[in-house]
Amino acid sequence: MNKTIGIFGGGQLGRMMAQAALPLNIQCTFFEASADCPSAALGTVYSSAAEHGLQNFIQSADVFSLEFENTPLADVDVLTQSKALHPPRQALAIAQNRLQEKALFDALQIPVAPYKAVDSLDSLQAAVAELGLPIVLKTATGGYDGKGQFVLRSADQIDQAWAELGPAGSLIAESFVTFSREVSIIAVRGQNGDVKTWPLAENHHHHGILSHSIVPAPNSIDLQPVAQDYITRLLNHLNYVGVLTLELFVTEKGLYANEMAPRVHNSGHWSIEGAVCSQFENHVRAVAGLPLGSTEVVRPTVMVNIIGQHPKSEDVLALNGAHLHLYNKTEREGRKIGHITLMPNDSRELTSLCRQLAKILPNPLALSEDMSI
Ligand code: AMP
Repeated sequence: MNKTIGIFGGGQLGRMMAQAALPLNIQCTFFEASADCPSAALGTVYSSAAEHGLQNFIQSADVFSLEFENTPLADVDVLTQSKALHPPRQALAIAQNRLQEKALFDALQIPVAPYKAVDSLDSLQAAVAELGLPIVLKTATGGYDGKGQFVLRSADQIDQAWAELGPAGSLIAESFVTFSREVSIIAVRGQNGDVKTWPLAENHHHHGILSHSIVPAPNSIDLQPVAQDYITRLLNHLNYVGVLTLELFVTEKGLYANEMAPRVHNSGHWSIEGAVCSQFENHVRAVAGLPLGSTEVVRPTVMVNIIGQHPKSEDVLALNGAHLHLYNKTEREGRKIGHITLMPNDSRELTSLCRQLAKILPNPLALSEDMSI
């Protein structure tokens, strides 16, 4: 069995992967610029800024994975000359480019909003003429949490949109999707091709950042098998090993894929307490070539992100059934620095917990009081 997993990136996702690996006697090492990153408490960090950092990192582990979606492909290419990476390079390359990602969804007949590639002001005008307005203009590479996006609502914004995003390189123009809610599906594929899927999460955002997720997504019995089918197509096509996330819009015409993340995902943090086996443990199991664990839900769960400022730990922990996860990150506006897991018995208890939480959190974001589970 592999004893050490080397992880590209050293953020909170790496930290939680390593926390899940520890009981299995699996160590993790990390490749990250900053020595005091959230993963540092869990294993050696090899500096991506140091001269022989990559070579030393490659020496440090038996098998490799990633928690950072923008892991440079050049580094991966050096690694894969001697060691294995899960998930595969192809999945990472596709997820780093929205145009390639949409082309893959098309090829696998996973529905997406109509889109066009844009690389000039002329092609932006042509895309607006063909797709109609509104459209969401996005950079093909490098964007995250709604950054690198422009919602074009009227033709007189075309010049402004091009001025803002044009210099960023290749762009994608997508029809604006009218959706009732956003959901995500997370699945894991083992080295023997086994696939296991967690229930859909319903995701709520505030200023483009995930605020909270409810799992299982309410009223999703019909959506679950469809989403499961889509993500299984992706996993099998890519001969994927590890955890994959697919973000989807719920529309009147069914599910539309927005994007995939070739890694564990913020909308899966609920699974640490809420599922028999968490996304982190199953990812580690897959990467290490171990059998996958059950993805069944123990209890309906709500995960609330702590963004920007820390609440008082004693206030959070006084809430009935609440679990607190802090990432050892400094406070900064808009930064994810921890999360809270709530496991209410029913919708009434959830409402009550959310009201209490809204008073405790310095930055309660979009926590509404009428959530149901
Ligand atoms: P993304 O970076 O692609 O995940 O987009 C960030 C957020 O922008 C999504 O979570 C949606 O709320 C919104 N969004 C992205 N693409 C579209 C679209 N084509 N239509 C409507 N809203 C979108």
